[in-house]
Order: sequence, then structure tokens, then C-alpha cells
Amino acid sequence: MKNNNIITRDLATLWHPCSQMKDHEWLPLVPIKRGEGVWLEDFEGKRYLDAISSWWVNMFGHCNPRINDRIKAQLDTLEHVILAGFSHEPVVELSERLIKITPAGLTRCFYTDNGSSAIEATLKMSFHYWLNLGQPRKTKFITLSNSYHGETLGALAVGDVKLFKDTYAPLLMTPITVTSPDCYFRETGESEADYSTRLFAEMEQTLAQHHDEVCAVIVEPLVQCVGSMRMYDPVYLKLLRKACDHYGVHLITDEIAVGFGRTGTLFACEQADITPDFMCLSKGITGGYLPLAVVMTHDHIYQAFYDNYEKMNAFLHSHSYTGNPLGCAAALATLDIFEQDNVIENNRALSQHMGNAVAHLKDHPQVGDVRQRGMIIAMEMVKDKQTKEAYPWQERRGLRVYQHALKRGALLRPVGNVIYFMPPYVITPEQIDFLAEVATEGIDIATRAE
Ligand SMILES: *Cc1c(COP(=O)(O)O)cnc(C)c1O
Repeated sequence: MKNNNIITRDLATLWHPCSQMKDHEWLPLVPIKRGEGVWLEDFEGKRYLDAISSWWVNMFGHCNPRINDRIKAQLDTLEHVILAGFSHEPVVELSERLIKITPAGLTRCFYTDNGSSAIEATLKMSFHYWLNLGQPRKTKFITLSNSYHGETLGALAVGDVKLFKDTYAPLLMTPITVTSPDCYFRETGESEADYSTRLFAEMEQTLAQHHDEVCAVIVEPLVQCVGSMRMYDPVYLKLLRKACDHYGVHLITDEIAVGFGRTGTLFACEQADITPDFMCLSKGITGGYLPLAVVMTHDHIYQAFYDNYEKMNAFLHSHSYTGNPLGCAAALATLDIFEQDNVIENNRALSQHMGNAVAHLKDHPQVGDVRQRGMIIAMEMVKDKQTKEAYPWQERRGLRVYQHALKRGALLRPVGNVIYFMPPYVITPEQIDFLAEVATEGIDIATRAE
């Protein structure tokens, strides 16, 4: 079997996610036959280093033997069972372990089957909590500019990435949008903490004005990944936690992308030493194997739904594959690896190595910023280094880096003009050096004057 065989059959039958399909008239699809560790291999033996963890899901490499074994054992025991009225061992064990490792106070796990559906469930739960408490006026959500929470209509509505959202505006509820504390635009000489603190004033004011009608504030803690890997200081989360408590508004942290060690701690919230009212997890939870997501919350929120059936205040929300046993088994194997291999500690050396490997790009004339949180590092290409004027999106310069990387055997998939590494944690320092080399060449090619 050759690559072309798959490509022809694919293009005759599939509609790919997040793609203008016409691009594939000149931009070849990449058919993958097998994976091993950080590597993906096509049908003709060409290998690609997966620098983006296949859309941020992979944690410990492709076809990791320890995760494979656990799924295989589960497969021969129980593949799936309805979770309403029924239960199974993997979902119970996973819930017990998640409660132990997440911030104190998150003691209830509600499962869904992907990140967006976790956000949907959370929005409904927050609204419904206030309703059950006799506060039907609370119907709105506060979100940050440049945020992303998924693609389904509710999740899309509380996000703010125009490229994905604007088309569907007539279908969406309207959130209250507060300026993101994203530190890219801070004054020269201003610290990230000072900038994020300064930006909090708008949030405080918005909460003071609207708290009567607001259910929750939803944020991606520390890194807005889809929003160009923009980063902000933990102090913002600390202030937000206090303000939400003060004004009687829930705090939802969407750790779907940043959870499970991406920012250097197991969960990003730890860096601000806060516990949200709802925490959403997905992506890395199964090590990148299977779709699974969880909403974690407090006992007092759970109790607001706990009553006699006739009161009609239960949370009647479900998805067919809720708490799928195979997904839970993959998650348990993933948690085992975190525990047994001292991952968070070892990642410190790897993230330092990533920082050093691309440090020279800070001086590149067309790079406006190199920023990092733990195992996420991003390099932003700009038209003007002084003013940070962006390249027009129509020029698709990030795509040129993508194409160059493919040629060199790496999967780098920039968001707009931002090149980033978010690799599986089994990457080696030598492989990081290779990525840095490819990214540097790619940025040179993509920013060359025409
Ligand atoms: C990916 C992502 C989502 C959506 O998850 P899906 O599983 O793709 O639906 C939500 N929030 C954040 C921060 C994400 O990165």
C-alpha cells in the first residue's frame, strides 16, 4: 500500500476537521500507517516527529506499551456499559484518583466524551445550580477575549476566536467578554504579574456590575492555547477566585488543553493555588488514546441537585459514551505513568532544554515573542518586531513552516503565525534540538521577503 492509495480514497470520501478541503489540491494529506513514541510513520516509511502531540492529546508517545496493555486487558473484560443506573470498576477507580490529584475540594466527577461536551455540561450545571437555589436571573457567562472552549454551540459561544465563531454568530448566546490578561501586549519593562494584575480591574468592574445575572466566569488557566498560545500570570487566577467568591459567581477553569502537566504543574490552577468551582479535563486524560472528558466539582454543588425525584431538579444530561471503560482504562494507565515515572519532575529538565533550544529566536528580526509555560513553548512571527504588527492572515505564513517541517520529518502545525512545541513527554533533548533546527529554518523561509 502506498501513500497515494490512501490519499485518493480519502479525498473521495472524507470531509476533514478544521480544513478548507480545496487546499488539498496542492497541499498533500499525510496518511499515517503506524506510530511509535514521538514518531508517526507513513505508508512509505517516512517518519514525522509529532511536536504537537497530535492536537495536544498525546502524553507518553504513540502506541505506548503500558497504555496498550491496560486497554487490551479492559477490552477482554468490558468494552462499554450504560453509566445511568450502572457502574464499573475503571470509572470508580478513575474518579477516586482524580479527586486525589486535583485541587482540594473537587470531590465529584461527571463524565462526558469530549472537551466541548464537558464545557456544555458545565455551563448547564452552573446555570442549573443557581436555578435550583432560586436565582433564575443568573443566565449569563463572563469570558475572556481570545479564549477558546470548543466547537459545539454553547462552547463556541463562550469562546472568542473570530475565525471559528463569527460565521455562526446568529446561532449563539452572547457572553460578556472581558479583555484577556494575555501578556503579549504588556508595556516594555512591565512584569507579567503587574500587567495581569492591571488587566484584572476590568474583570472586577464587570463582576461588580453584572454579578446578579452571571452564573460563572470561564477561563483557560495560564495559557490560551487555540488563541495563539498567549500566556498570562497566575496572579490573575488568584484575584479572580477571590472576586468570584465575593460576588457569588462560579469560576470554571477549562484545563482541557493545559491539564496533565502541560504548564509545568499537573494542573495549571496549582500555580495560583486555587480551586475552581468546576474544572474541565479531557485531551491528555487518556494519554491521547480515546475520547473521554470529566467535569469536576464540589459537594455543595452536587447537593443542590440531590433531592426527591418529584422536585425535578436533577441534572438530566447524558452522552452515550459517558465514562467509557476503555477510555477510563487508558486514563488509569496514564495516571500510573505520571506516578511511577516522576513525570512532572523530569519535565522540568525537558522544558528548560526547550527554552534553551529556541532562545536564539528571541533575536530573530521577524520573531516578536518567544514565550513558555512548562512544556508549551511558542514563537510568534511578526511583520514588525518593534510594533508587533502581525503578518496579514491571508499570507498564511504559519502554513509555510508546516510545509517545511513536513519535508524535514516533523509535525509542526502553527496556530496562525505562531509556531509552538507541545510535545509528548517522552521526547528526548536531541529530538528537541532537531525541532528547534526545523522551526528556525521554517521561520527563516516563512518570513523571507518576497
Ligand atoms: C480542545 C479544547 C476544547 C475542546 O475539546 P474537544 O475535545 O476538541 O471538543 C475545549 N477547551 C480547550 C481549552 C481546548 O483546548
